[in-house]
Amino acid sequence: MVKETGFYDTLGVKPNATLDELKKAYRKLALKYHPDKNPTEGEKFKQISQAYEVLSDAKKRELYDRGGEKAIKEGGTGGGGGGGSGFESPMDIFDFFFGGGSRMHRERKGKNIVHQISVTLEDLSNGATRKLAVQKNCICERCEGRGSRKGAAQTCMSCHGTGMQVRVHQLLPGMVQQVSTVCHSCQGQGQRVSHKDRCKTCAGRKIMRQKKILEVHIDKGMKDGQKIVFHGEGDQEPGLEPGDIIFVLDQREHPIFTRKGQDLLMSMELQLGEALCGFKKPIQTLDNRTLLITSHPGELIKPGDTKCVINEGMPTYRRPFEKGRLIIHFSVSFPPDNFLPENKLVELKRYLPERVDAEQPDSMDEDLYIYAELENCDMEGRRRRRNQFYYVDEDDCASSSGVQCQTS
Ligand SMILES: [Zn+2]
Ligand SMILES: [Zn+2]
Repeated sequence: MVKETGFYDTLGVKPNATLDELKKAYRKLALKYHPDKNPTEGEKFKQISQAYEVLSDAKKRELYDRGGEKAIKEGGTGGGGGGGSGFESPMDIFDFFFGGGSRMHRERKGKNIVHQISVTLEDLSNGATRKLAVQKNCICERCEGRGSRKGAAQTCMSCHGTGMQVRVHQLLPGMVQQVSTVCHSCQGQGQRVSHKDRCKTCAGRKIMRQKKILEVHIDKGMKDGQKIVFHGEGDQEPGLEPGDIIFVLDQREHPIFTRKGQDLLMSMELQLGEALCGFKKPIQTLDNRTLLITSHPGELIKPGDTKCVINEGMPTYRRPFEKGRLIIHFSVSFPPDNFLPENKLVELKRYLPERVDAEQPDSMDEDLYIYAELENCDMEGRRRRRNQFYYVDEDDCASSSGVQCQTS
């Protein structure tokens, strides 16, 4: 005789019900009171799940039959709430029972697959399309992810279809500990399939490795590190929402342009004559046009000057007609020593402005001066010595961060 019948009553079965009868009863009630269908009946759903959790487990059922709900609660399990039983919530029991939320929506997803795509600055500026082959897990089409002939799967007798085995250890009289493990007989599937019924296509694995070609559209203005997500194209797994395939853009360095936000940066070297007298210089743009960079008449370019061309930078993502600037940093290359004979230099000097505040040595007594001649100054050698002095610091820094230190 059983001590109490509460759990049996909850499931609407007799205390001598077989496991199959319990299952049938649970299935019917759980579907009826599932929170997705009956949001107000959450408590009822919990009770049904708790009752099933206990009665579907031979050891727990025996404990319940002898001592009632009290015995289960004292069984070191923390009661029917699921603590220590392996099930986080009634929903987990439901999922084990029905094969992982097959019918009801759950937020569990398969694995995402992440790939890096190497792109050029031209790709990011002009847009590009790439066809990429990816390998992913797909649910076997032949058996629709069952792994066997329809109806061939038998409930695993070791775990009664839960996929979990619960062992009860007696620590002290009246004190038991419950340990849940994945069922060994069915590897947590809750079902067993005889060899002859296994799907030949997937060998019972339910999933297949498949190659898929994806067309990746790189839009104008996308950035290095930007992600392009293919929702639901990741690995499929029975009972789970498929994951995503995520492509991460990795921009290769450009020989001329550096991107900074929407702006493109480049450096340009001018000859002294160009800097003084004006210049026209062609630049090949990322979309293969030729810009003729032209100085204003009469405008001088000094070493270190920065100028820009409006609307010749990168397009803005999703607003490709809004473009940044092309920013040009100038350096000026001076002619070599002795590029003009002395008499020509005198001529050249006539065109160049004089310092108005300069004192004229001719007008003064030369004895007042000490002549000082300029020699080449070996700054490189001095810098090397200074670096040696700081070398220990730099080495420390480089080895700890893997990033080279900036030397001034
Ligand atoms: Zn199959
Ligand atoms: Zn099992």
